[in-house]
Amino acid sequence: MSALTTWTDESIARLREHHANRALSNLDISIKLNREFGTVFTRNAVIGKRKRLGLINPNRPHKPLYVKAPRVRKAASPPRRWLPKVEPPTMPEEEIREAVVTDQFQCSIMELENVSCRYPIGEVGDLSFRYCGCPQADMSSRRPYCDAHARIAYRPSHHP
Ligand SMILES: [Zn+2]
Repeated sequence: MSALTTWTDESIARLREHHANRALSNLDISIKLNREFGTVFTRNAVIGKRKRLGLINPNRPHKPLYVKAPRVRKAASPPRRWLPKVEPPTMPEEEIREAVVTDQFQCSIMELENVSCRYPIGEVGDLSFRYCGCPQADMSSRRPYCDAHARIAYRPSHHP
């Protein structure tokens, strides 16, 4: 057996010291020993020596403590299979307008009152052109639109 892979009293004593530090892996210990004693111990050599010294239970391999941290974090995040597979309902903009705006108050410009919503329905100039007319506006308070049309009219121009 080469001297480079022979355990000495000094290297064994150091191995016991490193063993007390549970943050060190077998690879860490082999590197430290090789650096200090000029040896070429492999990770497996360290494991074998620790087993022979009775420092570790061969049935329960020694693992450094820091290995546990990422495992805990992994378990904390919900598995992907819990996520709903159904897409969130998306509705075209036109359908949204129809859903929240009623046409029962539509009126011409001659019929507009203080509370009539001024939101234009149809093309300006057409015979069929009307205003929404919903009595939720208040021109005296500078509210020209009903609630639904105010949301549409004052929506930010940049769409997501
Ligand atoms: Zn309106």
